Amino acid sequence: MTTNRGVYIHIPFCKKKCAYCDFYSVSPDTDIILRYTDALCEEIRAGGDKYADAPVNTLYIGGGTPVLAGERALERIVRALEDSFKLELEEFTVELNPDDDNPYAFLKELGVNRVSIGVQSVTDEVLRAAGRRHDGVAAIRALESANKYFDNVSADLMLGLPFQTVASATDSVNTVLPYVKHVSAYMLKLSRSVPMSAALARGEYTLPDDDLTVDMYEAVFALLGERGFARYEISNFALPGYESKHNLKYWRREEYLGFGAAAHSQTGDFRYANPASLKDYIAGKRFGNGTASREKIGADEAAFEYVMLGLRTAEGVDVAACEARFGFDFDERFAGALHRLRDVLVREGNRLRIRDDMLLLESAVALEFMD
Ligand code: SF4
Repeated sequence: MTTNRGVYIHIPFCKKKCAYCDFYSVSPDTDIILRYTDALCEEIRAGGDKYADAPVNTLYIGGGTPVLAGERALERIVRALEDSFKLELEEFTVELNPDDDNPYAFLKELGVNRVSIGVQSVTDEVLRAAGRRHDGVAAIRALESANKYFDNVSADLMLGLPFQTVASATDSVNTVLPYVKHVSAYMLKLSRSVPMSAALARGEYTLPDDDLTVDMYEAVFALLGERGFARYEISNFALPGYESKHNLKYWRREEYLGFGAAAHSQTGDFRYANPASLKDYIAGKRFGNGTASREKIGADEAAFEYVMLGLRTAEGVDVAACEARFGFDFDERFAGALHRLRDVLVREGNRLRIRDDMLLLESAVALEFMD
C-alpha cells in the first residue's frame, strides 16, 4: 500500500483559449459551473470511498483557470475532499492567471499555501501572439499581489514563442525573480489543431528556430542558476526547499488521484483517464465511480516509466528503489543501455542521472532503456 497520495483537481474553464493551448477547457456559464461542481464533488466522495486508505499530502487545483469556478465552488470542492479523505496537506497549490480577479486573500483563507501563476512572458508583443489575456504590467501586478499573501509563489514561463528572443526570455526571468521561489520554463510544443499553428501557416509570424529556443533555455538556465534556483527537473527550477512536492510525485512515479473532466489517475497497476468532455463527465463517466477508461500497466512498462521519469530529474533514478519495486537487478537488466550511454549518464552512489549538459536530450536517452 502506498504511504500517501497526491490529489489533482481539474477545473476545465477558461475565458478564452490561448493560441498555443490544446488542453481541454470551455468558457463556462453559471449553470455549467454548478453542474460541474456537483459532479466533481460526487466524484471526490465516491473516490474517497475507495481510496481513503492512504493520507493525501499534496493537493493541486489546476486547469483551465480554477478561480473561474468561483469561491463557492472551490469551497465545496475542498469540503468534499476534507469529508472524503484524510488530508495531511504539506502542499496545496492553485494555478492562476494574471488576469484573475485578485483571488489571493480568498485562496489563503481556503488553505492554499502555494500559487502558480501563468506569466509565460512579460513582453507584450510575445503575449499578444500567444493569445494571452494579460500584458506584462498585469503579470507584475499579479505577482506583487500574490506575494502579499504567499511565500511560495511559482511563475510559469514559456520559451520558443513568436517574437521571443534570448533577451526577452531573460528579461522575463529577471522580472519575475523578485517575486517567486519557483520557476517552470517550458519549451513551446504545438499541436496542429491550435490557432497558433493556423496563424503560422498563414504567415502571420514565425517561430524562433530550435537552436534559438535552446539558446533561450540555456540562458534562462544559467540566469536562474546564478540567482540560486536549482534545476530539479528539465523545466523546473526552485530555491532550496521550494521544489513542487506534488509534481515530484509524478516524476517519482508515485500514486495520484485526479478528479474532474480530463483528469488522470495512477494507482496500483492501473492508470485511469476521465473523459475530456463536460457532457460525458457530468453524465457520470468518472474515475471516482469506477467508470473512467482504465489501462493496466504491465511491470515492464511501469519499470520503463520509472526510469524515464527519474531521468527527467536532477536527483535521477533511485536504483535501489527501482530494484525493490520491480524485482530485478538494475545493472543486469539495463546493461546494454548503461553501456551505450556511458558518456551521457552519471552514477553517484545509488543514483543514476543524465549529465547536466545533456538533460535536454532526455527523451532520446530514455528510449535506450526500452527493451
Ligand atoms: S489559460 Fe491555460 S488552460 Fe486556459 S487556454 Fe490558456 S494556457 Fe490553456
